[in-house]
Amino acid sequence: MNPNNTLYIVVPCYKEQEVLPETSKRLKEKVLQLRAQGKISDKSRIMFVNDGSSDNTWPIISQLHAQEPEIFSGVNLSRNRGHQNALLAGLMTAVNYADMIVSMDADLQDDINAVDGMVDAYHEGFEVVYGVRSKRDTDTFFKRFTAEGFYKVMKALGVDIVFNHADYRLMSRRAVEGLAQFKEVNLFLRGIVPQIGYKWTTVTYERAERFAGESKYPLKKMLAFAADGITSFSVKPIRLVLSLGVVIFLVSLVMLLYALIAKIMGSTTAGWTSLMGSIWLIGGVQLLSLGVIGEYIGKIYNETKQRPRFIIESVLNK
Ligand code: UDP
Ligand code: MG
Repeated sequence: MNPNNTLYIVVPCYKEQEVLPETSKRLKEKVLQLRAQGKISDKSRIMFVNDGSSDNTWPIISQLHAQEPEIFSGVNLSRNRGHQNALLAGLMTAVNYADMIVSMDADLQDDINAVDGMVDAYHEGFEVVYGVRSKRDTDTFFKRFTAEGFYKVMKALGVDIVFNHADYRLMSRRAVEGLAQFKEVNLFLRGIVPQIGYKWTTVTYERAERFAGESKYPLKKMLAFAADGITSFSVKPIRLVLSLGVVIFLVSLVMLLYALIAKIMGSTTAGWTSLMGSIWLIGGVQLLSLGVIGEYIGKIYNETKQRPRFIIESVLNK
């Protein structure tokens, strides 16, 4: 078993006053159980990140810490920055103390008992353990359809993500330090974590319904999240413009030929040939040029993200 076994459970919270009392109770039981089993150290903590909530979330977290500082920690963001940023803030704070970090939502939708399997996998030498939903019975048809469609579109666009995995995962300290090298502002953790590499595995769990309160991800936020994910990882939409440009340009040549033949056959009104020709030709050339410019913008975009070009896992050199 790995002697470096301090676990931090990072939980981003936005207006979660209804669920926090229950979540903290259950997480505490889990941490005490894992400590008793000797799987995690006594320095392990549950770290709640308050994402600028306007309700009682932070007072509740402060109180938990005041009562049991050896179990609960808190991070308070200066304002609401969104789930992904709150999670990153928690990870970057916890990495200073932890050997492994589990991230999960506050609403108890992620089965807490899956943490056992994640910690076991960590002790077996895995550095990233993805929590994967086995089924989505509790989601509405709409949520299931849009969410699963999202994974499929991402895959089709060549983005490397784990199917049906949200942000419930364990990462070793080394993996989180790798994550810290990704400096991009448009954060889409689900896409970045697989880029870090290292030995990884999955743990399946059943996703429950939200314990209390309502989803903080309405359709609008979900769409924005999906668009962010796609545009942060894929230049395929740009390629699509380029391909379209090529196709239209080729069609324009055919149309040009057709217009010319029609003119020679004498079955056209005056001006039709030149109009037809120029509309198609100009449309094609414009799309083609946009696609070419897009290619360069895509390159600039990738450069500005300054992603690490490699992360070394180990070196043999004596
Ligand atoms: N969350 C956050 N900041 C936000 C929105 C959500 O920290 O601006 C947290 C929220 O408290 C929860 C997690 O992100 O712990 C997931 O949100 P939610 O459960 O509402 O999303 P859903 O499960 O419906 O997709
Ligand atoms: Mg939820």
